[in-house]
Amino acid sequence: MIRKAKVCLIGATAVGKSSLVARYVRSVFSEHYLTTIGVRIETHVVDRITGPIELVVWDLSGEDEFQSVQTSYLRGARGFLLVIDGTRRETMDAATALEASARRALGPVPFVVVLNKVDLDALWDLTPADVAEMRRRGWKIVETSAKTGAGVKDAFGQLADAIFAEVQPWT
Ligand code: GDP
Ligand code: MG
Repeated sequence: MIRKAKVCLIGATAVGKSSLVARYVRSVFSEHYLTTIGVRIETHVVDRITGPIELVVWDLSGEDEFQSVQTSYLRGARGFLLVIDGTRRETMDAATALEASARRALGPVPFVVVLNKVDLDALWDLTPADVAEMRRRGWKIVETSAKTGAGVKDAFGQLADAIFAEVQPWT
């Protein structure tokens, strides 16, 4: 029996949420649109050591108004990716606020912090101190590029593992 979990992408506008989903699932997905609430849902089966997990990935499409869709968007999510644009430090502050409201809505579900656009390292705006502060909070951090694909499978895989409490001793 396949295990299945709804996950959401949360983060400021243009951090790369939709691009990450596209990179992750585009070639092997089924999708449909819930146009009424502006949410795009795609599914992707990820193979983990204890077997396959179907991630049902929810991404806001169009207007990125987290507040207005928060309840219907987040309801039932088992975890989320908290996406930060490494070239825009202010998106880290947005992520801090969004994490707090997601926690209020969902309780203590697992999440993985995604530092996206790592291909633009010349424009990188987050400092080592910023990253250290996020690690101090206990945040699990993965650097990604939706452009090159770096880290993207790892981010979703780590989220899937956290949701199903799997341990991969070699990582
Ligand atoms: P969303 O609003 O969070 O869904 O962000 P989008 O996925 O629409 O991406 C916003 C912009 O950032 C688009 O122009 C993307 O092409 C660009 N983008 C997203 N991810 C990356 C990345 O990893 N590297 C680079 N260079 N650009 C990215
Ligand atoms: Mg988007």
